[in-house]
Amino acid sequence: MGTVMEPEWINKKDNNSILFEVSINHPCWFCDVTEKNRDGRPVHYLITTNGTASSKFMTWMMTKKFAISISMDGPSKIQDRNRPLANGNGSSKIVERNVHLLVSQHYPFTIRLTYSPKDDVVTIIKYFAKLGVKNIHLEPLFPHGRFYKVAKFGEKSQYNVYPPVKKELLTKFLQAIDTCKKYGIRIYNGHLIHFTRGIGYFCGAASAHSMLATHDGLLSGCLEVVDRNDKNAKTFALGHYVKEKHRFNLDKSKIKTMRARHADLLPKCKNCFARYVCAGGCAVKAVHVFCNFFEKDLSYCGFTRAIVPILIKKIARDSGV
Ligand code: SF4
Repeated sequence: MGTVMEPEWINKKDNNSILFEVSINHPCWFCDVTEKNRDGRPVHYLITTNGTASSKFMTWMMTKKFAISISMDGPSKIQDRNRPLANGNGSSKIVERNVHLLVSQHYPFTIRLTYSPKDDVVTIIKYFAKLGVKNIHLEPLFPHGRFYKVAKFGEKSQYNVYPPVKKELLTKFLQAIDTCKKYGIRIYNGHLIHFTRGIGYFCGAASAHSMLATHDGLLSGCLEVVDRNDKNAKTFALGHYVKEKHRFNLDKSKIKTMRARHADLLPKCKNCFARYVCAGGCAVKAVHVFCNFFEKDLSYCGFTRAIVPILIKKIARDSGV
């Protein structure tokens, strides 16, 4: 372990303000947010939530101008199957109520939609259009959550809601783009963002450009590694909180390791035509499957190599090239 956490590690929105991003499904610690940091710079907040908070809390977030992303997968049949409450009951009614609240206040927000080949993505998007949703962040289901003990893709998976393989991913994704366009919904997706910008790293956290501070004081390099007991905590630990000093210690050697997971450096990716769209995909998913931080994310790889030529042809066609 080396130096304490420096201000430049804070995720800066621009030169004069700070973006504080929260991936949390439990809002109780949020009673006291600051609008300016100690230097007087504005602080902005972004929350990714399961959308089951009380109306009072949702209203409070609106007054604090939180950027809100709600994880929701579709009509009640799908939502309740994928995202039950801790007591086993469905979450759809509560989440719908909160979506109605945001829409009624004309408050901008995004739905984080995870899709499986089992479900009809067109029906799902129509449902969101009817609710008044204007922004959808679309990502496929991957077999790497707490529920999935073994990473298996496609229909051969033993799981009822199985993760899609290349062709299924592609078909649903293209259907989703067309349907969102039809209903005036803006669609976000990692591939589309990376395709338009070009990247060297798949994500900010696994390249140590941003960090997740967990409830038990771990500085994590992955949004999915959320406490010290996670089986991948050692791989993604960038430091930890030192209670006595009220400071974070950073592991500089780990930062160096994470910076090496770059599109131009990854052994299996450095010569790939799509490396600046994909950069090896999600590190934690590669670790789940291969136990190797420098491996590629298999399902992302197949999807990327298929979608990039399609997107290029689509742009050329639409531009009359
Ligand atoms: S498409 Fe595959 S080979 Fe190419 S950069 Fe992505 S993971 Fe690596």
